[in-house]
Amino acid sequence: MPAFDVSVVGGGPAGAATCLRLAGRGLRVGLFERSHFQAPRVGEVLAPAVGELLQRLGVGQDIDHAGFVRCHGISSAWGSDRPRFHDFVFGTHGWGWQVERRAFDSMLCTAASTRATEVHLGAVVRSCHHLPDHGWRLTVAQAGELQVYWARFLVIATGRFGLRGTLADQPPIRDDRLIGLVRYVDATASAISPTLACIEAVRDGWWYLARLPDQVAVAAYLTDVDLLPGPGRTTQRRWSSLVESASLIRSLLQDRTPRSSPRLVAAGSWRRTQVVGNHCVAVGDTVLAHDPLSGQGVAQALESGMRAAEAIHRALEGDQGGCLDYAAWTQTAYQAYRQQRRRSYRLEQRWPAATFWARRHQPPAQPGPGALRR
Ligand SMILES: Cc1cc2nc3c(=O)[nH]c(=O)nc-3n(C[C@H](O)[C@H](O)[C@H](O)COP(=O)(O)OP(=O)(O)OC[C@H]3O[C@@H](n4cnc5c(N)ncnc54)[C@H](O)[C@@H]3O)c2cc1C
Repeated sequence: MPAFDVSVVGGGPAGAATCLRLAGRGLRVGLFERSHFQAPRVGEVLAPAVGELLQRLGVGQDIDHAGFVRCHGISSAWGSDRPRFHDFVFGTHGWGWQVERRAFDSMLCTAASTRATEVHLGAVVRSCHHLPDHGWRLTVAQAGELQVYWARFLVIATGRFGLRGTLADQPPIRDDRLIGLVRYVDATASAISPTLACIEAVRDGWWYLARLPDQVAVAAYLTDVDLLPGPGRTTQRRWSSLVESASLIRSLLQDRTPRSSPRLVAAGSWRRTQVVGNHCVAVGDTVLAHDPLSGQGVAQALESGMRAAEAIHRALEGDQGGCLDYAAWTQTAYQAYRQQRRRSYRLEQRWPAATFWARRHQPPAQPGPGALRR
């Protein structure tokens, strides 16, 4: 039975960053990713901070050579129907990127595999069990068979999916029930800016639109799940009526040929109170899931993976202090994120009585079971 020092479950940015950061430390690392990166993935606008994180992971060149679109800023009709421009170039990190997420995530996994991580694609981890004298036992469905792998340390990087037998088996603490209705459209010869992402607030939510490589653009409408009642949420008719309510988005999407049907995705904010366990740590969205408005999901996933790798390295040498530091960092990061999200939503005051905005303008709820369990 193959044995790893560290097994990472999930090959998104958080899992890949953990592997990249563990590289070169003489550890046997295995990464299990359920997909082959075939299905579309959301989260295409990468904040400028991502560039520096990728440099620190030793893959800064890879993104420059991948043919992604540089994102120079955001054009936002937020707080007013006159779009305003926020230029990234005047920030500390320069430009961001508009990427095809399958290609971006696959690029990071490939980089990890060239730096000594054993990457298993199409490998669904069904469950994990910790046995005190043996470490973690992972049951993995791979190529139509169930395989068993062992690991001294487990990293849960499954994003918004749970993982049986681990601390991610428990439901997270949710701040809201935001969902996204996402669609890809043809962007050939369109007025959609090649280098600016676009955001527009509407009465019951907000939109984003961004150009991606290969003449495609992604458009998404974000609202609360109860404000977009089904059935028929993903129909062309519903999509058209939602587009109609957004003047900027409507002008840019006009006559665009769809490249996909509208698809619903979960987009709410959440956190877990327990992020480290017995020879185990959770990273990325599994720990702290962002509202897409923050634009920080991928940056935070990369940073959490990097910090977790330091904690794991120390833990395998018998020092648990790194895991405690990591757990404290996740709590601080979530508080900072929540404050920023509240400030952003308060900038929009045109529909104070509308449920979507009233919910976001309320004073923050008392923290739940806030103290992190260690
Ligand atoms: C609508 C929407 C728009 C967004 N827009 C942005 C944006 O513009 N910019 C931004 O920075 N962020 C954005 N985000 C957030 C961003 O996508 C996430 O924060 C980021 O992908 C988190 O990375 P992760 O590695 O933690 O999780 P994920 O990217 O979700 O990766 C988890 C991985 O685990 C794998 N997996 C799950 N379960 C198993 C299992 N049992 N076995 C094996 N593999 C498994 C999955 O296949 C997946 O590859 C957006 C999110 C949403 C919902």
